Amino acid sequence: MPIFSVPESLRTWAEVDLNALRANLHFVRQRIGPAPSILAVVKANGYGHGARETVQALAGENTIFGVANLQEAAEIKTVANPSDVMLLGPCLPGERHAAVKNGHIVTVSSAIEARAFSEYGNVRINFKIDTGMGRIGVWKDVAISELQSLQGIPGIEIHSISTHLPSADEDTVFTKHQLNGFTKLAQKLREMAPNARLHSLNSAGILTLPEFAGDIVRPGLMLYGCSPIAEFCTALRPVLAWKARIVLVKDLPAGAGVSYGRTYISSNPIRTAVLPVGYADGYPRQASGQGCGVLINGKRCHLIGRVTMDQIIIDVSDLPDVQVGDVATLIGNDGVNSIDAEELAKRSGTIAWDILTGIGRRVERFYSAAPEKKRDDSVEYQSPPV
Ligand SMILES: *Cc1c(COP(=O)(O)O)cnc(C)c1O
Repeated sequence: MPIFSVPESLRTWAEVDLNALRANLHFVRQRIGPAPSILAVVKANGYGHGARETVQALAGENTIFGVANLQEAAEIKTVANPSDVMLLGPCLPGERHAAVKNGHIVTVSSAIEARAFSEYGNVRINFKIDTGMGRIGVWKDVAISELQSLQGIPGIEIHSISTHLPSADEDTVFTKHQLNGFTKLAQKLREMAPNARLHSLNSAGILTLPEFAGDIVRPGLMLYGCSPIAEFCTALRPVLAWKARIVLVKDLPAGAGVSYGRTYISSNPIRTAVLPVGYADGYPRQASGQGCGVLINGKRCHLIGRVTMDQIIIDVSDLPDVQVGDVATLIGNDGVNSIDAEELAKRSGTIAWDILTGIGRRVERFYSAAPEKKRDDSVEYQSPPV
């Protein structure tokens, strides 16, 4: 049970359990066996958990790191060896020089793009193949000829050959077919580039089709303790809890409208609690009126009315003792009850990735294993059991 030291003056914060993060990495390792490498995906500020802290917690676990772009690579440059960082997205022409100079592994979709990088020096590339994502990567039917042109270019080392799965969490039949096709194609490509490593699996792929692990896997969401496949939810440990303190408790009579648009009208007298967190913090506005709740003193209480920019309103009529300063859990456990990112996402019509990466800058992150975050005015705050 990690102990987080959170100042009483803090309105909203996230608690990040770095041991849970490491446990989830070990779960990936169990799924895929000892041979494949793990590329931990830490893009978008480590899925909202803090990129630097995530990298630090996973360093020494024989991982390399995946970020979306050069800017994100710069954010982790003091904690990750730049040669262990792969840029998963394409670079703009103006970014190529720095990407090469920094020694990152760059993702390319064509020989022309690879050549443009090589003008700045030796470069390791991740040669990406589009086998059904329809986004970046060279279309599979022309991958062989593209690799042939690419091979003549001096200064290029093919670090890896990879593809991406559009439907691993939704359509295992398609995904299996896609992976079989990629495996066949990759065999031919590897005759041309024998040292290239193969990779294709994201979290959903690792969970459903680990036999396609290849040489490297690329887990993102599952490292943070959310499973894109429902049956694995309990096997992973949630890493992040999101909390806020009640700033106001107020009674309203029957017939009172609550929040913008007066979409909620109380049918009885109610007691409400205002939480100082809103859509500007990443709490989804689409959660309004969808039966979302928060946990207060171990009990689930309903969000009523619309989510506003900086505040939400909770019905606490069932909690006679509730007080200003009490902690509400937006995501996480309180006693036997829990609300996970997946639930909040479903009710808001989105996905857990969106919820986690959307948690905003106003939400200070606290780390279970980062004592330098402690402050003098802090009180020991014991988080509920995970
Ligand atoms: C984001 C990303 C991943 C991780 O996906 P999850 O579903 O979060 O595991 C893997 N590969 C690539 C190329 C990505 O961009």
